[in-house]
Amino acid sequence: MPAVARVTQVECFIVTLPRDVPYLGPLAADEQPNPRGYFVRRGNRTIYPTVDRTVLVKITAADGTVGWGETYGIVAPKAVTEIINDVLAPVVAGRDPRDAASIWDDLYDLMRVRGHFGGFYVDAIAAVDIALWDLRGRIENRSIAELLGGARRTRIPAYVSGLPRATLAERVDLAREWVGKGYRALKFAAVVSHEGVIAEARALREGLGPDIEIMVDLHWKYTAEEAIRLAGELAPYRLAFIEAPCKPEDIEGQAKVATHAPMPVALGEELRTIHEFQPRFARDCMRIVQPEMGHTGVTQFQAIGRMAEASGCAVIPHAAGSVGIFIAASLQVAATLPNLPWHEYQHSIFDRYLPLTRTTMTCAAGFYELPAGPGHGVVPTQELLRHAVAA
Ligand code: MG
Repeated sequence: MPAVARVTQVECFIVTLPRDVPYLGPLAADEQPNPRGYFVRRGNRTIYPTVDRTVLVKITAADGTVGWGETYGIVAPKAVTEIINDVLAPVVAGRDPRDAASIWDDLYDLMRVRGHFGGFYVDAIAAVDIALWDLRGRIENRSIAELLGGARRTRIPAYVSGLPRATLAERVDLAREWVGKGYRALKFAAVVSHEGVIAEARALREGLGPDIEIMVDLHWKYTAEEAIRLAGELAPYRLAFIEAPCKPEDIEGQAKVATHAPMPVALGEELRTIHEFQPRFARDCMRIVQPEMGHTGVTQFQAIGRMAEASGCAVIPHAAGSVGIFIAASLQVAATLPNLPWHEYQHSIFDRYLPLTRTTMTCAAGFYELPAGPGHGVVPTQELLRHAVAA
């Protein structure tokens, strides 16, 4: 049994890189950025930054080993770093990283009675949790998948997420390009589907033929009744799933859509814990769950994946704004789960950050390659850290 290497230091960084085209695609005339650099997508009334931004957590053990974690820094990143610095870091100091899962419970307990069941607080825990699992893996020279019982696969099918072009014709051309590169499944985004979701589904089905899987992210835009009607109209185009049809607060509406839509419903990217998923499993709100590692951390992602297994649901992880660290952690857990047909691939973010990390992780020709080596298998390079500010 090696000597315990306890946590000695927890540090936070905010990483910011400018983008030429905003996430999800070009802005409409009434979607211009405000002085803080945020704009509101009219399609789903959601605020986004014009840049790519993420929060990194670096945890150092007494023997000098370092683990890296990551969560979302899309808006108000200092909310997350303040929670980590002020609340979580002093509690984690002196702990044994082999206790990552029980540390998650301890950190969650700290703010329960104040109602912090999600949001920035649980994002902050997720970043710390990923760093602790990475640290444990590096101390023990084992991957997170090995720590969780072993990888079932090292190649994970990837679906292409988002077609960030201004017009439908351009989006169909882009989809064809991805199919030409070996990808067999693509998802388009209702929030930028300016010609209409039905027109886009039809154009993609006609453009891609019968053998490519097509999905749509409905971005919480509809009431349950509207979503059921829309799902019926989409039936001829044989979508593999519809995602996030109605508001996350509307659990009964989600259940109605899941009952009446002719294709499977996927949801869950905005949920962080087994406690948030549990009522959706109980009401059969979905056939596919989409945990997002940047919100869940390793500990909750695995638990949600096992709940999905027990409920007969597939797991198709969500994966968006990561410099590579929480994507790698997501692949590590995804590799261990039994019912995982695809993992999301946000090409416009993944591809630009991959050269800024040290990893064997790739996504090509329709598959992710699980990163080799200990922990989650990704280390930020000095070049990436040049875009980071200690926070
Ligand atoms: Mg989505």
